Amino acid sequence: MHTATLRDRKSVKTVVDEAKNKGLKVGFVPTMGALHDGHLSLIKQAQSENDIVICSIFVNPTQFNDATDLDKYPRTVEADIALLDSIGTTYAYTPTIDDIYPNGDELKEEINFGGLDLEMEGAFRPGHFQGVGQVVGILLDIVQPTHLYMGQKDFQQFSLINFMIKDQGRDTILRVVPIKRAEDGLALSSRNARLSAEIRAKAPIIHDTLQEINKYQNAMSIGELTGMAMGKLRAIKNFNPEYVIIADGYTLKPITDITKHDYVVVCTAVWAGDVRLIDNVIIKGGL
Ligand code: AMP
Repeated sequence: MHTATLRDRKSVKTVVDEAKNKGLKVGFVPTMGALHDGHLSLIKQAQSENDIVICSIFVNPTQFNDATDLDKYPRTVEADIALLDSIGTTYAYTPTIDDIYPNGDELKEEINFGGLDLEMEGAFRPGHFQGVGQVVGILLDIVQPTHLYMGQKDFQQFSLINFMIKDQGRDTILRVVPIKRAEDGLALSSRNARLSAEIRAKAPIIHDTLQEINKYQNAMSIGELTGMAMGKLRAIKNFNPEYVIIADGYTLKPITDITKHDYVVVCTAVWAGDVRLIDNVIIKGGL
């Protein structure tokens, strides 16, 4: 089976209209490319629950608050399409910037995320989530999928898109897929390709540290747990953690007592050399 490439929104509309007229289910996986096994696990779940699957590859400029990060973001479209083809993905949607933003990319109105955008990443990446909401909204308008697939890897991202979908009354169902990790525990990420060998070798410490919080959650206070984690990460040469936050899984607000919440996640963002990595572990309750 060959993955067909759709280059503009009109082609997407044609295939989606045809599928929906036949009563078929459409699964949608938005990505920024440089695909890895994490992305493929989303696509595989989409395949198991839909008749056709569209994977978009679009490095969205409006969600990059750092121009260097946008510049250095890996772009490997040919290899991506070969990978999509190898698992029998129905369609790749590879729009141009003009196809996504025909009237310019200025956001007309602030997107309501119920305040979820102000927590954790919100403090370090101003404007990032407005850009994410903007592009996901446009992509959902174009694709009109039955199901949308997002990764647990970006915990705050799926949480606020979940809010946005409900708030805007969109009729797509969000499915969240667990984090895919390398054998040594590092969460797979397109940005991992930019890590030096020395830093890559140390990077599993991020997941180890989150697991340690999980292990000692009943034995230490929140302050002790996060203090221990920050200390461990700071101790690694060229590692600089921005935050380790133990948060309520629904509100994303930092908590003070794990026993008072039934869904708890620990999230972190760490500069590993000049690459910013994020990770999380759900330490109570489930997705
Ligand atoms: P990105 O290309 O980084 O924008 O990611 C596209 C989608 O893949 C997002 O919903 C991510 O959360 C998801 N994703 C990225 N890495 C992983 C991973 N290691 N495990 C599961 N999902 C992932």
